[in-house]
Amino acid sequence: ENLIIAIDGYSSTGKSSMSKIIAKNLGYTHIDSGAMYRAVTLYAFQHQYIVDNKIDEQALITNLSDIKIEFKQDLTTQKNLTFLNGENVEADIRTMKVSKMVSPISEIPAVRDYCVALQQQMGEKGGIVMDGRDIGTTVFPHADIKIFVTASPEVRAQRRFLEYQQQGKDIPLVEVLKNVNERDYIDSHRTYSPLRKADDAIEVDNSNMNLEETVNKVMEIINS
Ligand code: C5P
Repeated sequence: ENLIIAIDGYSSTGKSSMSKIIAKNLGYTHIDSGAMYRAVTLYAFQHQYIVDNKIDEQALITNLSDIKIEFKQDLTTQKNLTFLNGENVEADIRTMKVSKMVSPISEIPAVRDYCVALQQQMGEKGGIVMDGRDIGTTVFPHADIKIFVTASPEVRAQRRFLEYQQQGKDIPLVEVLKNVNERDYIDSHRTYSPLRKADDAIEVDNSNMNLEETVNKVMEIINS
């Protein structure tokens, strides 16, 4: 069986971490769709299509076909690495600079169409766990399993804060919380394919669960 498993939800709910483990358990491929929007955002910065928080949408749209995104596995760490036009940008797409502009970039319909086409192409054969915001609604409306992950903003900001600390990045908790809230707001209020729970998705609130408990819960749903 080569299922399509869609895991959507709010920022920093641990979607990517759980998807990675679930994919490994099932012998599936994990695809982090947010990494694609982050790579497009990085590309926009590299080409000065973002200046002083202003986006030159037209220039970005015109050059979308110039953006090549690939995922490769680091053979020693097993980590998924994101490549933008042949360059490993895994670290560069996770900075606060990119996190602050990724939601406005993701609102642009042409950017979404571009990323969604790539996601559909990567996932069409099944055997995938894809995490994002609109996988169960737009990318794979016929996904076999749909999960919608939520948690309180404070819990999510605290988790992301600790993750940054582990990477040696000292970003104040208030700034992390602000970014989480801002992205959630923009992601759920955009007109084109907003973040929302698919009608047939199963909601998992992991405010009071750790990663292992969340994975167990989702595996239970998959196996039921
Ligand atoms: O998953 P991650 O937090 O890395 O995603 C970064 C941003 O990319 C989100 O805040 C959202 O603006 C955008 N995104 C999206 N649709 C997806 C995945 C991510 O709009 N399927």
